[in-house]
Parts: sequence; structure tokens; C-alpha cells
Amino acid sequence: MLDSPLPAPAPKVIDGLTGPWEMVIGLEVHAQIASRAKLFSGASTAVGAEPNSQVSFVDAGMPGMLPVPNEGCIAQAVRTGLGLRARINLRSAFDRKNYFYPDLPQGYQISQLFHPLVGEGEVWVDMPGPSRRRVRIERIHVEQDAGKSIHDMDPALSFVDLNRTGVALMEIVSRPDIRSPEEAAAYVAKLRQIMRYLGTCDGDMQHGNLRADVNVSVCRPGAWERFMAGDPSGLGTRCEIKNMNSLRFIQQAIDYEARRQIAILEDGGTVVQETRLYDPDRGETRSMRSKEEAHDYRYFPDPDLLPLELDQAWVDALAASLPELPDDKRARFVAQYGLSDYDAAVLTAEASDAAFFEQVAAGRDGKMAANWVINDLFGRLRKDGLALSDSPVSPDQLGAILDLIASGDISGKIAKDLFEIVWTEGGDPRAIVEARGMRQVTDTAAIEAAVDAVIRDNPAQAEKARAQPKLAGWFVGQVMKATGGKANPAAVNELVARKLGL
Ligand code: ADP
Ligand code: MG
Repeated sequence: MLDSPLPAPAPKVIDGLTGPWEMVIGLEVHAQIASRAKLFSGASTAVGAEPNSQVSFVDAGMPGMLPVPNEGCIAQAVRTGLGLRARINLRSAFDRKNYFYPDLPQGYQISQLFHPLVGEGEVWVDMPGPSRRRVRIERIHVEQDAGKSIHDMDPALSFVDLNRTGVALMEIVSRPDIRSPEEAAAYVAKLRQIMRYLGTCDGDMQHGNLRADVNVSVCRPGAWERFMAGDPSGLGTRCEIKNMNSLRFIQQAIDYEARRQIAILEDGGTVVQETRLYDPDRGETRSMRSKEEAHDYRYFPDPDLLPLELDQAWVDALAASLPELPDDKRARFVAQYGLSDYDAAVLTAEASDAAFFEQVAAGRDGKMAANWVINDLFGRLRKDGLALSDSPVSPDQLGAILDLIASGDISGKIAKDLFEIVWTEGGDPRAIVEARGMRQVTDTAAIEAAVDAVIRDNPAQAEKARAQPKLAGWFVGQVMKATGGKANPAAVNELVARKLGL
């Protein structure tokens, strides 16, 4: 797969005063590993607890405490690597990244610099339309999160909450393969989708469980292609925008940052490699600190932890237990149910959406099931601001409605009314149809009588329709109205045409 040809990129071009510029983007995504306990201690990761109530001696950095790797967290990172078709390194190691911060009581973060757990992988990013691009993953390493400093509770004091200290993170580092703000957002969205399918990160960006450091540089057209061919000399100096936790802000920040760098270069200046922060209120990035280098942190192998050695058989067992991933599921929906790629993408956005659809579609017409799930069910959920898990209509109930349409018991129009009744009142759709007399009239004698009556009562209209057959539709409408929408539309059409002598 890694050898498959790269689809042509569609870089965003910015026209400067001195000609066109392009952008080059690479992301470092921090994803909180879904786990009940922390990376090196048994303390809980549950949210909403009293500050500092979930802090073990290891997390608090007490002298003499020894970290013990949490096998569950390592398995989650390996599963993520497998989901990104990445190389799993059977031997990896933990390093200390030394720095001082009040919410980091150890005085260092345990991370993986020299030997990460996961090596090169790839993500296929879905862009608008059917186009897809491949973004290469450079590595995924496992590390500890820091605690939280709180500066807005007291005018003179700062507080610290160590509940998050030591929670497991994955840092997923991309190659600089991303060429537009939209692609960067789509890349993060795709990572999030894959991790949610895998159950390795909940992807909650609002709570910071998924956040990205965005590296941006600008170059002249052609430079990125030469870089891909082995010559990096045309690439520009990058700046890193820290801790972005919204897809919209990621795009705004990249756009602003690229224009800022272009203005500097066109003015004859040089871009200084540095770490910047995005201020969404002002729509601009601001310098935070000059870029630190690995040696500033005096990284060294953590002497408290042995290198991590994995059995190939353990990795193979994790690989065998992976769920079907979004790209595979989407392709299968197109092949198996005859759906459009677009509908398949909508239905596979979340694994739970896809499961719901497949229950409705089982043994039924796939396209019809897709239409009902996407338009009627999802549309109705959106209208009421409900999640699928709160849907008042179950897959069985929606399936029963589709069966009633397929058997000709109800028309498509009545089915919409029935759906609304099931939505608001619940119940078995078949029983509702019986109890309320919603069954479609296929009895030709009854329809014939209704057609005769309408033609008899509207002789002038009938005359016109005989001369101009497309006016027959009016009679069809009248008959449908007279029968409360329950007449079989095909039978009505046919009878109206016959009775008018068309
Ligand atoms: P560091 O460890 O100093 O942050 P890395 O080599 O790990 O540097 O790169 C960090 C991120 O920067 C990666 O996601 C990478 O893709 C991205 N990157 C590297 N070079 C460039 C560039 N010229 N423009 C934009 N992003 C870049
Ligand atoms: Mg980095």
C-alpha cells in the first residue's frame, strides 16, 4: 500500500505580489488514549472528579516511585498503528523529556523520542468530491499528559489540578504532505474517525482529548514536488502553531500563518522557526517562544523503564481483532448495497450509524433503506437535536415500515405519516397500520368508484384532459385526496387514464 502512487495534490495557491505561493503543512496530533487507568499508574482517568483526587504517588512525582507501563494503553496505541497501516516496532523505549512546569511534578515528561512504538503508516484523506489523498504518518509515540494549571480562579494565586497528570497520550506525527487548510482539517477528521472506530480515542476535541500542533511553511510552486523527489532545498522555514482543538480554527490559523510568512518573505525578510499560538478572537497567530530543539530538553532513556518488547503473536492477535475500518466499510457498502459513494460515506461516518443502517437493510432493498436512514431518520434526529443513540425509532421499527411499503400495504406517502406516528408515539408499525386503517387501497373496485365519481363531478376538466393528456394528473390528485392518500398510486394512474379514454 505504501508503494501505491500518490494522487496529485491540489495545493492551495496564494497570489503574492511577487507571484504565486503554496503551503506545506505537517501535523503533530495528540490523542488521549481511551483507558480507565493512566499510562504508568493505576489512578483513574475518569473526568469530572474533584481536583487532585486521582493522583497516585507516581503521578505526583514522589521520590522513589517507579512507573509501570499499562499494557492496555500500549495495546491501544498498537491498535491505532495497525488502523493506520503502520509498522509496529516490536522494540521501543521510553525517554525523559526534561522541563519545569508547575503541572509537571516529576520535572520531566516520559515520552518516546529515539525509538517510538509505531513507525511509518498512512491515512487516506477524503476531500470534497470523490478525490482522496494519502498523508504519510512518520511515527506514533506514547507519552504522558501533564496536569492543569488554573490561573482564573483567584486574582493573586494559581492552582494546579494533577488529575490529568500521567494520562496516556499518543502523538501521531504526519509527514509534510498536507497542502491546504481544508486538507489539514480533513486529515484530523479522518484520524478522529478511525480512532473512534477503533475505540482508542474518543476524539472529543472540545475537551482537548484530540488536539493538534500545526506546522506551516510556504514555498514556490514545484518545491514540494522536488522535496518529494529528494531535494528539500526549496521548502520554506516552518512555524508551529500549538494546541489547536477545533477543525475550523486549524484552517483559519493555517491561512493566516501562510499569509503572514508570505508577507515577511516578500518584504525581503526571513521566517524565524518558532512556536506560535492562535488567537481565535483576533484571527491571528502570535509568537509564543522560539523553537526549542531536542537537546534543550536533554532527552535521555528513562532509567526507570526497561525497553518495551512486544511479541509478534500479541500484535497479530490485536490485528486479528480490529473492527472493519471506515474505508473498508464504505467500499463494502457501495459494493454490497449498491449505494453511491456519497451515501456510503454518510452512513459510515460513525460505526454506530453504519450498524443501524445494516440492521435496517438486512434482507431489504439497500438503496431504499439508505434513503430512509439518511433523509428521514437522520433528518428527523437533526431537527430534534438528538443523537442516534436517543432515536425513538429503532432499526426494527424502521425495517417494519419499509416492509409495509415493499408489500404494497402502504404507499410511500402514508409511510411518512406512519414514521411520524412511530417517532412520537412508538409502537409496532404493522399494528398501527391495522388499528388506524392506513392500509393502501389496492382493491380496484373501490378505486374505480372514486375515479368515476371525480370524472362525473368535473365534466369540464375531463373534457380538457382528453384533449391534453398531461392534465390527467389533476384527476389522480383528486382521487388520492378522496381516498385519504391510501389508494395505490399505480392503480389510480392506470384507471384514470383508462376511464378518460387516454
Ligand atoms: P520537530 O521534532 O522539531 O518538531 P519534526 O521533524 O518532528 O520536527 O517535524 C514536526 C512536524 O513538522 C512534522 O509533522 C512534519 O511533517 C512537519 N514539517 C517538517 N518540515 C516542514 C515544513 N518545511 N513545512 C511544514 N511542516 C513541516
Ligand atoms: Mg515535534
